[in-house]
Amino acid sequence: MSEVNDEKVKLENIKPDKSLRILTGDRPTGRLHIGHYFGSLKSRVELQDKFETFIEVADVQALTDNFNDPDKVKRNVKQILMDELAVGLNPNKVTFLLQSMIPEIAELTVFYSNLVTIARLQRNPTVKTEIAQKKELFGESVTYGFLGYPVSQAADITAFDASYIPVGEDQLPLIEQCREIVRKFNSIYGETLREPVAVISDKSRIKGLDGNEKMGKSLGNALYLSDDLDTIKTKVMGALTDPARIKKDDPGNPDICMVYYYHKLFSSDNECKNICEECKKGARGCVACKKQLIENIDKELSPIREKRHYYEEHEKEVMDILMAGTAHARETAKETMEKVKKAMKLDY
Ligand code: SF4
Repeated sequence: MSEVNDEKVKLENIKPDKSLRILTGDRPTGRLHIGHYFGSLKSRVELQDKFETFIEVADVQALTDNFNDPDKVKRNVKQILMDELAVGLNPNKVTFLLQSMIPEIAELTVFYSNLVTIARLQRNPTVKTEIAQKKELFGESVTYGFLGYPVSQAADITAFDASYIPVGEDQLPLIEQCREIVRKFNSIYGETLREPVAVISDKSRIKGLDGNEKMGKSLGNALYLSDDLDTIKTKVMGALTDPARIKKDDPGNPDICMVYYYHKLFSSDNECKNICEECKKGARGCVACKKQLIENIDKELSPIREKRHYYEEHEKEVMDILMAGTAHARETAKETMEKVKKAMKLDY
């Protein structure tokens, strides 16, 4: 079934092919931040011209660890869509879909649950890490739904017959789990499903403004695509710099400074070279350095904010885009379901 035999490829190494489908998505648990922007949204904008692109708003998956806060999930469905549209994802090129409105995904999840053992899910490194991070929610006892979310992800991927799945390195075990499920399904029921290939991007994780490896709302260290200029100023002014620098002419170490880290994302190579040299010589003040960064961040984010503002004023248009995409995606999921049921002798 699969024309692509690799298990993972680098983003820059995949050849454009409009006959192949990419599936990616987000859990609607909060607005998207610049970690998402550099880690995935920018590459999605490129990919929309190279592949048939499906983007899922994974509300069912968001409930696996937010089951006690359905309002939060519902509220963020629109927020996520607005962020996606604001960065330049074009609904004429991309199919946006809402997971909970595709019942075939839930049905496939049930079928696939026979093909994976509890021990295998417990050993999945991504799941293990996430369970450890969610101790407060789950205590000592994780839910069946959360433990099984890789199975539901395998259902997402295969429902839409996706060839390529853009992920960060830390998400690779989820794609491997999906590939195992597909292989097992095909070996038992006959060649039916496509094995997906993970697409890895170099910038898959961006550190927070405080230097934390992870960026997030609960950590208070994220810059959101929807942040206004005043919020950006406050956040950047509070970013971690070289703590050993007390006076303006103290020589600094840009490699341990988050302002420099962000300059490398938002400023030109030439600017970065100057910043690095001047910082090391003690010829640059941190306040001026931060102001320059704020200016460059604003240059990149203000067109996104403007576009987002349009969608904030036109919420119905946002939901219409999502509903139209979901209807289109469901047709594909129905076709997959027909094949799966036939293979499993459930085609009554
Ligand atoms: Fe960081 Fe710039 Fe200060 Fe150097 S001058 S420590 S790069 S903020």
